[in-house]
Amino acid sequence: MICTAKYEGVVCRQAVVDLIYVFLIGMLSAFILHFTGGCPCKATVGIYCPGCGFTHAFIMLMRCKFDLAWEYNPAVYFIAASSVWYLAFGDTVKNARAWNFIIWFTALTTTWLIRLIIGFPEVMS
Ligand SMILES: [Zn+2]
Repeated sequence: MICTAKYEGVVCRQAVVDLIYVFLIGMLSAFILHFTGGCPCKATVGIYCPGCGFTHAFIMLMRCKFDLAWEYNPAVYFIAASSVWYLAFGDTVKNARAWNFIIWFTALTTTWLIRLIIGFPEVMS
């Protein structure tokens, strides 16, 4: 990690850069999804991907509509909490970037597998 002791007590610069990359990738994905008409996984394989509903979930979270955020994609809570943790403590924890990635990956795959088993909510269709 690039962050050094001189960044202690303030937001870790590398964490901010990482989250800017994630934001830009998310914006690019939303742009592509807007013009292709939906999730390529759903269109080709017929099942929702782990990221399906995440944009709506994030918007609902920002609007404090927590129940709808959970219905669209429960992983948004774990990823939001992990991101806040990464921004706040990313410079003080060893391998914080790797831990953040593990939390994101685990949250997305676990919630996706559970929703594949119990079914996706009505709001997704
Ligand atoms: Zn999808």
